[in-house]
Amino acid sequence: MTTKMDNTKPVAVIGAGTMGRGIVQVFAQAGFEVRVYDAASAALEAAPAMIGKFLDKAVSKGKLDADAAKATKERIIPVTTLTEIGRPQLIVEAATERVDLKTEILKSVDRMVAEGGLLATNTSSISITKLGSVVADPTRFIGMHFFNPVPLMKLVEVVRGLETSDATVDETCAWAKTVGKTPLKVNDHPGFVSNRVLMPMINEAVFTLQDGVADAETIDGVMTMGMNHPMGPLALADLIGIDVCLHILEVLHGELGEDRYRPCPLLRKMVDAGRLGRKAKRGFYSYE
Ligand code: NAD
Repeated sequence: MTTKMDNTKPVAVIGAGTMGRGIVQVFAQAGFEVRVYDAASAALEAAPAMIGKFLDKAVSKGKLDADAAKATKERIIPVTTLTEIGRPQLIVEAATERVDLKTEILKSVDRMVAEGGLLATNTSSISITKLGSVVADPTRFIGMHFFNPVPLMKLVEVVRGLETSDATVDETCAWAKTVGKTPLKVNDHPGFVSNRVLMPMINEAVFTLQDGVADAETIDGVMTMGMNHPMGPLALADLIGIDVCLHILEVLHGELGEDRYRPCPLLRKMVDAGRLGRKAKRGFYSYE
């Protein structure tokens, strides 16, 4: 196996939202300079401050050395144009879950990856094979599916598209380990393993709420205390983002065509109302 990671060369992350910020942080903590781009200037400006807050909290709890926190912050370089990401050895696309948008980004950054480098997407549900079809070399394209909150969650679901090469799978697993994660390899199929199993449960919890079976706290309480889940499905939906959950269910429903993936109307209503979960300070719970 050839691993080409070199911490004198930068990596790049496209998208500085919930996931992009976390991905930037773990690469910076692992010693890599990280160039981060977001189309929204507010998200780009907020990212270093939010990561800094996370690191400062770890320092105050004695979990992180102050010098390491300082060095991590210095390795994060926000850039306002895509060309400023330079020639990174790895690009992780973590922008909004929309196929048209991701396709455009991948086409733009495709030729910017350094020789022998990798292009990865953090998509939750869009086909890796489909996204890979727009890049010049789909053998070097892969799903690198991190989990939320990225600095705390151990798993990276490594998703192999139809054309992804064995070497790319191996190198992506090595990258995941380099940033302190455990890779698990899966094949490209709507929702991969994680969301194919998780999203129907979240959707069913929303139907349960919509049907008036119980309130949100009770539904989550049944699942945390009765099933020993660390977090209830509605609290988890708020953490993931209600819009992200809706997008994933739409993909599952559209691609697999089965009623069991039909998004609950209440989920749609919440997105229409802007109740997107923690990031909007309102979802199934209030975070004001
Ligand atoms: P988010 O809404 O928090 O952030 C998305 C960011 O992408 C925003 O800051 C937005 O401005 C930016 N963006 C939009 N268009 C862009 C463009 N053309 N170029 C650069 N940036 C652009 O969403 P998120 O939760 O961080 O999700 C990002 C990706 O990660 C999605 O593909 C999602 O499916 C996936 N994902 C999400 C979770 C989760 O729990 N939220 C978990 C795993 C994977």
